[in-house]
Amino acid sequence: MTARETFSFQTEGKQLLDLMIHSVYSNREIFLRELISNASDALDKLRVAALTDEKLSPLFADAHIRIALDGTRRLLSVEDNGIGMNRDDLIAYLGTIAKSGTKEFIQSLAERREALTAELIGQFGVGFYSSFMVADSVEVLTRKAGDEAAWLWTSSGDGTYSLEEASREGCGTTVTLHLKSPEKDEEGPAGPDFTDRWTIGSIVRKYSDFVAYPIRMETETFDDEGKVSGTEDKVLNSMKAIWARPESEVSDEEYREFYAHVSRDGTDPLRRIVYSAEGVTSFRALLYLPAKAPLDLFLREGERGIHLYVKRVFIMQDCKELIPEYLRFLRGVVDSEDLPLNLSREILQQDRQIAVIRRSLTRKVLDELKRFRDGDREGYLSFWKEFGKVLKEGIFADERNRESLLSLALFCTTEREWITLDEYLASMKPEQKALYHLSGGALEGLRRSPHIEAFRERGYEVLLLDDPVDDFWIDVVDGYGEKPFKSVAKGTADLEEKPEEKAEAEEREKAFAPLLEALSKSLGEEVASVRLSKRLRASLACLVGETHSMTPQMEQLFRSMGQ
Ligand code: ADP
Ligand code: MG
Repeated sequence: MTARETFSFQTEGKQLLDLMIHSVYSNREIFLRELISNASDALDKLRVAALTDEKLSPLFADAHIRIALDGTRRLLSVEDNGIGMNRDDLIAYLGTIAKSGTKEFIQSLAERREALTAELIGQFGVGFYSSFMVADSVEVLTRKAGDEAAWLWTSSGDGTYSLEEASREGCGTTVTLHLKSPEKDEEGPAGPDFTDRWTIGSIVRKYSDFVAYPIRMETETFDDEGKVSGTEDKVLNSMKAIWARPESEVSDEEYREFYAHVSRDGTDPLRRIVYSAEGVTSFRALLYLPAKAPLDLFLREGERGIHLYVKRVFIMQDCKELIPEYLRFLRGVVDSEDLPLNLSREILQQDRQIAVIRRSLTRKVLDELKRFRDGDREGYLSFWKEFGKVLKEGIFADERNRESLLSLALFCTTEREWITLDEYLASMKPEQKALYHLSGGALEGLRRSPHIEAFRERGYEVLLLDDPVDDFWIDVVDGYGEKPFKSVAKGTADLEEKPEEKAEAEEREKAFAPLLEALSKSLGEEVASVRLSKRLRASLACLVGETHSMTPQMEQLFRSMGQ
């Protein structure tokens, strides 16, 4: 036996613990959902590991989660016989916050001394540390599958935790909470009693009914006279896969709880997509559009939230092959009827069925987004503001669905806010030849740009492309609705000339020839040429690019990438 060692939580861990301990969050019962979800993850991991490691396969037997309560000592424990943790795992997983984005987020919360509200909790997965909302101290007794040694992790949330070797029968993890006494509890004696069986039973059914493993709890049995005669374990959850049930039989509440489970997002989703495909490849999907962009949306190693199941059995989380990159904000599950159970990440990449699922899901999601756009424009706009930047990556990357994606995009223009390209086309002047656009920098600057003067004067609306990603797709897209895209800042944008203007222009060319000559000489290499402008009205001069040259923003981007 090794001695007991004490460790410090990493800075952000301390800050998160502090936020949890002093949280004014009224929905503290969700700590139980978090512990059950970790237990369920641990069982999934053991099952998957057992598929490829023969030594482990006998360990995955009677997979279950068990809740035990002790009212006198104020203890609550959640036990699983899943994968368990070794010493390194405990330090890495319970002593540190590894998730990208979360660290920075907590840092900024702590700096602003902001209280933890439901809204804020929603922005990152609360996870294991939420135990400290209801407990003075927490013990984790765990043994990793395949190991002999077990470990006991303890902390009272004061910035340190300790580790010592211990013993445990079989692999898995038992998390024991020493619940705050009602007097010390912020909600006082009137708050929920987490040692009460009925209370716990209803919390489990509310949040964790669909968990795929039985969640058992010791329950009293009664004799014929109604007296307590003993105890037995009862299963609290129905274990029904929510996506396998007909949509009409599942309540909105159940769908929301399932979202919280798969997404680790505490905010309600914007919309759900229920899909069942039959044919060469059969699968069901339950997908959600989150209301808020996650913190790691633009990080390369950010989470992808689609979980893969095969015939109701969990295969892997964050399966990025199931949807294209530009739909990475979707959360939910896909359950295939045809894929093999022992699927590895390597096989996934080349699997034809997966490619079929991806294509079919993409089409379904884009159709649903169109329905969203047409049925609830306000809701769709809030979605677009969160995820439009990501979706626009698809215009560049997904040629097959380019038209659809273009039709889904919303733009601000010189005249209006957040219109579709179809709306742009519908109110276009009859003689207008192209969809004019201007990119480079923020909207405010674009609106003041000298490039747009002559266009506005003619009543031509100009699309203002203020996202950096716009510069990427605009170059590969020919047009929309049989009209080409054209930059007002490149080359001589073809403003129709009236005959008298043409004559006048020739006059001017002649009159200004000497000036242009002189300017050209003095600017020398700095510019390619000096021309008289047809597009300026109030401004004196502006810089324009060659028709095929890069925009200033792209030049900057390439420069910053070291090109
Ligand atoms: P998340 O579940 O989002 O990863 P948590 O804070 O809930 O975050 O848990 C942190 C990590 O601790 C988990 O990813 C897992 O590796 C480990 N862990 C927590 N509970 C268990 C458990 N019951 N069995 C095995 N590992 C666990
Ligand atoms: Mg968790």
